[in-house]
Amino acid sequence: MNHNLFLQFQAHFRQTPDKTLIDTPEGKRYSYAEVLVTSQRLAGTLQALDVQPGDRVAVQVDKSPEAIMLYLACLQVGAVYLPLNTAYTGAEIDYFLGDAEPQLYVCPPERSGEAQRFCQAGRAVHVESLGTAGDGSLMERAADAEPVTEIARLDENDLAAILYTSGTTGRSKGAMLSHANLASNSLALAEAWHFSADDHLLHALPIFHTHGLFVACNIVLTAGASMTFLPGLDVDQLLDLMPRATVLMGVPTFYTRLLQSPRLNRDTVASMRLFVSGSAPLLAETHEAFRTRTGHAILERYGMTETNMNTSNPYDGERRPGTVGFPLPGTELRITDRDSGAELARGETGMVELRGPNVFQGYWRMPEKTRSEFRGDGFFITGDLGVIDADGYLHIVGRDKDLVISGGYNVYPKEVEQLIDELPGVAESAVFGVAHPDLGEGVTAVVVVRGGEAALDEAAVKAALADRLARYKQPKRVFAIEALPRNVMGKVQKNQLRDSYADLYT
Ligand code: ATP
Ligand code: MG
Repeated sequence: MNHNLFLQFQAHFRQTPDKTLIDTPEGKRYSYAEVLVTSQRLAGTLQALDVQPGDRVAVQVDKSPEAIMLYLACLQVGAVYLPLNTAYTGAEIDYFLGDAEPQLYVCPPERSGEAQRFCQAGRAVHVESLGTAGDGSLMERAADAEPVTEIARLDENDLAAILYTSGTTGRSKGAMLSHANLASNSLALAEAWHFSADDHLLHALPIFHTHGLFVACNIVLTAGASMTFLPGLDVDQLLDLMPRATVLMGVPTFYTRLLQSPRLNRDTVASMRLFVSGSAPLLAETHEAFRTRTGHAILERYGMTETNMNTSNPYDGERRPGTVGFPLPGTELRITDRDSGAELARGETGMVELRGPNVFQGYWRMPEKTRSEFRGDGFFITGDLGVIDADGYLHIVGRDKDLVISGGYNVYPKEVEQLIDELPGVAESAVFGVAHPDLGEGVTAVVVVRGGEAALDEAAVKAALADRLARYKQPKRVFAIEALPRNVMGKVQKNQLRDSYADLYT
C-alpha cells in the first residue's frame, strides 16, 4: 500500500476540478485543477533540481497559496517539507539549514542575493525564491517545467515534513512527521469537527506552524473544502469576510481581539458554524464573553508540533471552558507522576503522555533527546502538566518547565494566574519562578492592568490572594507590565520573564 498523504487529497482534485480551493482578499482564486497542475509543475521543478525522496526542502517564505502548492509538490515526490519561521534571520537560518541540510532552500525574492551564501557555505545545494504574489525564480522555473503526475510510493513511516517546535521553552527542535502521522490526524479532525466540501475556512494563521499548515490546510484538503488565505490577523478584514465563511481557526489572541471590535455580533457570525482555538490556553472568560456576544461556544483543542492534535472539546455536547476536551479517536492519553512515571488516578495532576498514530517519529538528528522523551511502552512525554476531571475533560495546567517549586512545594502557575485574573482591573497575568536564596524559587507575578484603570497596587493584589491561596503559592512580588511577552502563536514567553527578573531575590 502507498502511504503517501497526497492520496488522501487526490479524489477532490478529480471530482471538483472547477471548485475554488484557495482565494485571497485581493480577489485571486485558485481552483482545485489549477492548484493541482501548479503542484505538478513544481514537482517537476523539484525533480529537475535533483530533489530525491527523503531530501529536505527548506521553505522560509511569506504566506502565499503558491507555498501550499510547493508543500503538495513535496508530498508528491516524497521530499520532506521543512517550513521555517519567516522571522528567523542570519545566524538562526544558518543553524536551521546546517541542521536540516536541505537539497533546496526557498527564500523570499528580496533575500535571494544574500541567500546564495548558504549555498557557498554548503548549507543548501540550491536556492530559489518565492514571493507572496507568486513571483520569484521558483515559479519561473515551474512555468517551464513538465507536470509530474506520478505520486511517490511511500511507507507508513516515511517523512512528509520536519517541523520545528515554537522554541517556547528553549531551542526549537525538528519534529519528524510521517505521511501516516499527518494523514491519520487530519482524518480524525475532519470527522470530529464535521468538515465537509461545503466548508469555507478563514485562514489567518502562519503556515510554518502545525496549526496553520497541518490542522488548517490538511483538513480543508481532506474534506474537499475551500479557504481564504489572509496574511495575518486583521480584525476588520476577518469580519468583512465572515459572511462568506463557515469556520475560523485561531489562537486565543484572535478571539480577544475580535471581542474588542464592536462589529462582532450575532449577525456578523450568522454563516459560521465553528470557531476553533488552540496553540495556547484560551481563558474561560474569553470563551464566556464570546458565547454571550455571538452565541458560539469556541471549540478548544490541544496539540503540539510533535503529535499534531491530541484532544478536542466535543462538536456535539458540552464544550467546557478552560478545558481541552477528550482524546481524539485513536489517541491514548494518560497522566503520570512527573518523577516516577507511574500512572495517576483521575483528578490528580501530572505529566500528560500520549500514544497513537499521530505521534511523531522523533527529533531530527537528536536520538538522545528522542529516547529520553519516550517511555518504554511507546508513550511520548509531552512536557505539559494536566488533570482529567470527573467527566473526562482534560485540563492543561501548564508546562512542566514552568512549574514553580518553592520551598519544596509544587506551585502550578495557572492556579495562581486564574485567581489574579479575577481581581478587579486585571486584564491578564503570568506567574513564574525566580531563583530565591531560601526557597529555591520564589513565586513571582506580572499583571497587565486593564487600559485606563488605576495603577497596580502590589500590596492590594497580595492581600486579595492572602486568604485564597496557601502561603507557599502566594506571589512574593507582583509587578505591572504593559503586555505579556508573546510569540506569533500567542504563547507567553515565560523564559523571557524569568530572564528579566532573574536577579530579583538575590
Ligand atoms: P518548544 O517545544 O520549542 O518549547 P512549544 O511547545 O511552544 O515550543 P509548539 O509545538 O508550537 O511549541 O506548541 C505546543 C504546546 O502548546 C503544547 O505542548 C502546549 O504547552 C501548548 N498548547 C497547545 N494548545 C494548547 C491549549 N489549547 N491549551 C494550553 N496549551 C496549549
Ligand atoms: Mg513543546
